[in-house]
Amino acid sequence: MPLPSTPKKVAVIGAGAAGLVAARELKKEGHNVEVFERNTRLGGCWVYSPEVESDPLGLDPTRKIVESSLYASLRTNLPREVMGFRDFPFIPTGKVNRDSRRFPVHQEVLRYLEDFAFQFGLNELIRYQTEVRHVGLETDGKWMVKYRRVGGDEGSDVAKTYDAVVVCNGHYTEPRVADNIPGIDLWPGRQIHSHNYRTPEPYQDQVVVLIGLSASAIDICRDIAVSAKEVHVASRSEAAGILQKLGKHPVYDNLWFHPMIEKAHEDGRVSFQDGSVVLADVILHCTGYKQHFPFLHTNGSVNVDDNRVEPLYKHVFPPALAPGISFIGLPLLVLPFFLFELQSKWVAGVLSGRISLPSKEKMMEDVEALYSELEAKGVPKRHTHRIHDAKRLFGPFEYEDWLAAECGCPPAEEWRKGMFYGTFVRLIKQTETYRDEWDDEDLVLQAYEDFMQYLS
Ligand code: FAD
Repeated sequence: MPLPSTPKKVAVIGAGAAGLVAARELKKEGHNVEVFERNTRLGGCWVYSPEVESDPLGLDPTRKIVESSLYASLRTNLPREVMGFRDFPFIPTGKVNRDSRRFPVHQEVLRYLEDFAFQFGLNELIRYQTEVRHVGLETDGKWMVKYRRVGGDEGSDVAKTYDAVVVCNGHYTEPRVADNIPGIDLWPGRQIHSHNYRTPEPYQDQVVVLIGLSASAIDICRDIAVSAKEVHVASRSEAAGILQKLGKHPVYDNLWFHPMIEKAHEDGRVSFQDGSVVLADVILHCTGYKQHFPFLHTNGSVNVDDNRVEPLYKHVFPPALAPGISFIGLPLLVLPFFLFELQSKWVAGVLSGRISLPSKEKMMEDVEALYSELEAKGVPKRHTHRIHDAKRLFGPFEYEDWLAAECGCPPAEEWRKGMFYGTFVRLIKQTETYRDEWDDEDLVLQAYEDFMQYLS
């Protein structure tokens, strides 16, 4: 790959999976990279911490942020063959004390990311315990980054300028809660967001109402059912219909599914839209997260509205500011690491001038066309970055394949696509067993044949 004639000085915010692969791609392309990470180690949301935040709902803006959203029992919800970066497969290492299962425990992902950073010499690019507090455009087209050391003697902000900033700060630290529940303000029980859920013990013999039916909610309701007296899952999701008809869970006799909460009462009762009522101790909000960029100052060029980061060309570049600022990792319902890698290759190639962007006007037209089509299809704004949603405009892996084509990479492999969709179907059909029972051995074989080219 030809190195850029003038390597760019690039700041990457975050050393999670997105920041690491962005740093790798920028470095590979010859840019000078500095990665800012406020934690003491790399890995982002895969760094488990038993610590929880002082505000269990995560609403207090002055709370100390705990980066991790992991619960202790978490195993991946994707098989390892599709979870890794394309050219650094996430395969069992054969080392002792590692989990070689297809859906391993969370510690295995952290070790994989550490191995990735070691392999590509990324550690020396990272400034740990350094929080970015301000990113803004200067009049000369450079980007001002102000940062401060966290923990110990914090001192004052240090300011430095860069040619470009790549934002990889993740989106699992700013909880969204269900605040439109009638009566919730006067309901006397305990409320917590899944961001602060770690283990089931604190829920021993309690009646828990859990809101949501995301991948985390599906895990957590079962995790809690082991020690709680009763668990009642309330969801407005369309996919929840079958479960709600089922009512009681077939395996756990203390776990029920309901439509959304109708009202929370002052005496501690919670009533659901199906007419049932329970006296609950805890409401656990498994209701996702907000996009949050407290450090970003763009004079209105980039905004977050109902969780849509806008306007962004292909979910990465704000047309008015491209290519100086870019966002890696916003899409949801994707293969995260694979997608981050493609987005990073695109950003690195655009910054070196090897890949061209359309004019600002054309990018804006593309963005507006996307928003109009989403609206016409009835997709709520907050789902703008969901790529593989059934209602989306994109065909299977169309977005990823578009990125790959821009970067001169092959499209997503057929086995990868099949395994991704197959896992999703198994998650719905065999929720209890999808991590340990499967029928896609043919795809696993194809994956390993493919990996051979990267494992010399
Ligand atoms: P993060 O991992 O959140 O990293 C962001 C980093 O930025 C953090 O290290 C943070 O400290 C740092 N940072 C933030 N702000 C600043 C600042 N101002 N200054 C300096 N540093 C900053 N994906 C899968 O592929 N498979 C799974 O099974 C799976 N399970 C998941 C389960 C849970 C509970 C969650 C929450 C997510 C799961 N994911 C899973 C998705 C996961 O988000 C991605 O895999 C990916 O790790 C996200 O990486 P990221 O780099 O975008 O964000």
